[in-house]
Amino acid sequence: MTAPVAKNALDLIGNTPLVLLEGPSEAAGCEIWGKCEFANPGASVKDRAALGIIRDAEALGELKPGGTIVEGTAGNTGIGVALVANALGYRTIIVMPDNQSSEKMATLRALGAELVTVPPTKFANPGHFVHTSRRLAEETDGAIWANQFDNTANRKAHIETTAPEIWEQLDGRIDGFTCAAGTGGTIAGVGLGLKERDENVVIALTDPHGAALFNFYANGELEAEGSSVAEGIGQGRITGNLEGAPIDTQFRISDEEGLEWVAKLLRGEGLCLGLSSGINVAGAIALGKKLKSEGRENPRVATILCDTGFRYLSTLYNPKWLAEKELPVFDWL
Ligand code: PMP
Repeated sequence: MTAPVAKNALDLIGNTPLVLLEGPSEAAGCEIWGKCEFANPGASVKDRAALGIIRDAEALGELKPGGTIVEGTAGNTGIGVALVANALGYRTIIVMPDNQSSEKMATLRALGAELVTVPPTKFANPGHFVHTSRRLAEETDGAIWANQFDNTANRKAHIETTAPEIWEQLDGRIDGFTCAAGTGGTIAGVGLGLKERDENVVIALTDPHGAALFNFYANGELEAEGSSVAEGIGQGRITGNLEGAPIDTQFRISDEEGLEWVAKLLRGEGLCLGLSSGINVAGAIALGKKLKSEGRENPRVATILCDTGFRYLSTLYNPKWLAEKELPVFDWL
């Protein structure tokens, strides 16, 4: 196979490899595939949403040459926005809660984004990073608010790129897809895109603790239980991107189980990932087992490997931090 050639750096976004995950496949008793979103230029799945949102705003005439993009983010979307903005000549202002990893903040500053940090707070509070970013966009001349949670250009990017890529990479033979939701753009977009091609593909939400979506899809109540240290996932409301998402079933995965898969994927197969990837893989194993128990033969399940573990050296890969959070410390650290 010839390695791909890109006409420009923005063309490096997407078209990520899909990898067969050995340990998870063995645990599930069926094929578990991981979409390598850490291979994007910004090292996360959010490059796709950033590019989609910016191209959409340009097409609508809202974003003009030399304009500014303002966004509230747990970090990865900001990194994607900053890279795309640099390539296209826009200015970037990023608002993020100050409890996210220091690597993400340092990365954003290094990329040239103007960074505003705010204390973490509930969505209902006007000081929440999302509301702060909206206000900043309103106050800045020539600025647009990317609004990744409710702007459906986010999920459109996954309908148009991630879903067809997975479909083609698996030659149209896929039984299930699962991932966690932050904005919900990935699960909704990949879910809609796969169902368009085969309505029998089962779409499962994998929710961390502390999020309200598991209960919503299980019994209609937006109710959270427990908490999670996973960054970028865990949603408490039905965002614009989640509206009409074709969710057939749902799993709830603990940080401990997610971390166990982060460790196994690193030591067993040489993949250094963040916690949302570990939680997704645990969900994919649960989905594979469920599909098998329902009589599907040799089901194939795909999930998202959302971002690189190098973004979490000060947290997930730091024994002191893990101990402070009362989480198990990887035994080689
Ligand atoms: N994992 C990580 C590390 C993320 O940063 C995000 C984005 N918030 C997600 C998963 C979830 O993706 P989405 O916003 O498409 O639901």
